[in-house]
Amino acid sequence: MTDAEGVLAGLDEEQRVAAATLTGPLCILAGAGTGKTRAITHRIAYGVRTGTYDPHRVLAVTFTARAAAEMRSRLTGLGAPGVQARTFHAAALRQLQYFWPVAVGGPLPQILDYKVRLLAEAAKRLRITTDRASLRDFASEIEWSKVSTLTPEGYLAQAADRPEPGGADHQSFAKLYQAYEDIKADRQLMDFEDVLLFTAGMLENEERVAAQVRRQYRHFVVDEYQDVSPLQQRLLDLWLGGRDDLCVVGDAAQTIYSFTGATPDYLLKFRRRYPNAEMVKLVRDYRSTPQVVSLANQLLADRRSSSAAPWPEPLQLISQREAGPTPTLTEHADDDAEASWVAEQIVQLRDAGTPLSEIAVLYRTNGQSQTFEQALASAGVSYQLRGSERFFSRPEVREALAALRTSSVTADDGSEELGHQVRAVLSSHGWKAQAPTSAGAVRERWESLAALVALADQLASERHGMTLRDFIAELDERSASQHAPTVEGVTLASLHSAKGLEWDAVFLAGLNEGLMPISFADSQLKIDEERRLLYVGITRARTHLSLSSASARHAGGRGRRRPSRFLIPLRRTLGLEPQARRIAPGGGTLSPNAAARRRRPITCAGCGDVLTVGTQIKRRRCQDCPVRYDEQLFEQLRSWRLSYAKELQMKAFM
Ligand code: ATP
Ligand code: MG
Repeated sequence: MTDAEGVLAGLDEEQRVAAATLTGPLCILAGAGTGKTRAITHRIAYGVRTGTYDPHRVLAVTFTARAAAEMRSRLTGLGAPGVQARTFHAAALRQLQYFWPVAVGGPLPQILDYKVRLLAEAAKRLRITTDRASLRDFASEIEWSKVSTLTPEGYLAQAADRPEPGGADHQSFAKLYQAYEDIKADRQLMDFEDVLLFTAGMLENEERVAAQVRRQYRHFVVDEYQDVSPLQQRLLDLWLGGRDDLCVVGDAAQTIYSFTGATPDYLLKFRRRYPNAEMVKLVRDYRSTPQVVSLANQLLADRRSSSAAPWPEPLQLISQREAGPTPTLTEHADDDAEASWVAEQIVQLRDAGTPLSEIAVLYRTNGQSQTFEQALASAGVSYQLRGSERFFSRPEVREALAALRTSSVTADDGSEELGHQVRAVLSSHGWKAQAPTSAGAVRERWESLAALVALADQLASERHGMTLRDFIAELDERSASQHAPTVEGVTLASLHSAKGLEWDAVFLAGLNEGLMPISFADSQLKIDEERRLLYVGITRARTHLSLSSASARHAGGRGRRRPSRFLIPLRRTLGLEPQARRIAPGGGTLSPNAAARRRRPITCAGCGDVLTVGTQIKRRRCQDCPVRYDEQLFEQLRSWRLSYAKELQMKAFM
């Protein structure tokens, strides 16, 4: 076996076929966890190691900057360093930065990361009255139009099928879209979609630039191809310039971005476009236990009874792993109760040896993160928020970047010093070695800066000779892909930002009607996408999977929420009946079941009275508790309770 053949050794038969097909169009169509990303990474490495590819001539496109960084580091590990693995945005931004001076001249427009403010101005100019919600609606409609490559006039021609955005008629929206574009151009700004649009425009109009880019890149690989947008496809076609050395991988059942204009059509019609394409299917699931895989299979199988749109036949996955724990399904009285239960479970997993970086809490909307942040913080568990595009828009991060940029003009030391500069520069912006002890704005600010410091340390240790300038370039790239730096801790992420990733333990929270499916999923097509989103969530888990729902938003809150419709068949098939309702720290009625399960009497957190069956409980207290409720005290009690529980566990081991 030659060295290069060793690269194929860690692959199964089908993956090996894919990896050894080094040129020409190739499509890997397979379910979650079957090793698609692994197969293309090994394919690139095999191409480089056999001398078929010059590493600098390969462009691998991934969905997130984190996935790109991971692919680069895997490739280095496989003996194929130097390959460009980037997101569409990062790859396009690089080309723009490089060619803008010759193709257009003048400075590259600054990236605008906050459409809503500019839209508010545009609306004012046109005397359209708006509120925040409708501005956000306009912003996503503009994003959709741009990734669908529609100008304001183009939009009007297609508008009949679109709901009226933000309560405005299509005509007014098109005017607003135009005004937004005008203001942006006046101020020399570009939004995220412009990065791709400008690059595509440059390649279409500047023959010399197009020729140079095509000379540079010969072999193209695209991961997560089921979620490519028409704009990204156009860019890909321009890069290819009629050539067909393209390898795509995807899973139509994981299409979760169609609301932003992405479509699985390019994946499903790949063979039609390239009749000589090699097609490879993978069915062995290497990621998850049979229990998790069977839940995922069940969820997809069930959609046939309800789905409006014809889905391709789902690929039944076959787990390659040994049996693991049965996934759990729990119902809670309210969000707080659910979050503190999740935090308790995480503490248990951590104490039993699961690293925090191997645990994720996934939810449908970013707004849900707050409750989990609080619960984890009061349980003393560190966490990181993932995929919140807000990180690089946060004022402190922008200020910090500006400060780093100014200092990089004079300082450009090697990697040993990187963590040192960064610290020095950021200390003048509120960073200290010690974390502030109270929650709130100061802590948030510190956390953002600490994330930058941690990233500097991490990169300095990974990449030898990394300078401050390199670090800033890396931050710019991440910023372009709206990606937050990684720090050790539990991952809190929206389901959308979890694609392609995996953890030992995954908590899928808030599985209620209104959240999953989300309340605005008002058509069968949108409900189908919600189901795929849950499929993505389930298939992120390697071993432990917890599904949970909360019947109310707040303790004693009025509207009751039903558990998600998607859970019904899962419960039945896997015998996963929800565990008896827990007594919520938030509130509820003390049921005979709950009382019977406890060996010790349940007492009120306020006055300490023993609670009897049927007692109304609110915030762990009896209904008429004479001791006044005090939010801070409640939090304090909760954290004492957790540390007390830990202490007891420790004693049990001693
Ligand atoms: P997704 O659809 O979620 O993106 P994927 O198909 O890209 O998943 P990978 O992330 O490549 O799957 O692989 C899933 C897990 O299985 C990874 O931990 C990977 O290392 C492992 N794996 C894949 N193929 C093999 C194999 N042949 N032998 C051992 N482990 C494998
Ligand atoms: Mg993958």
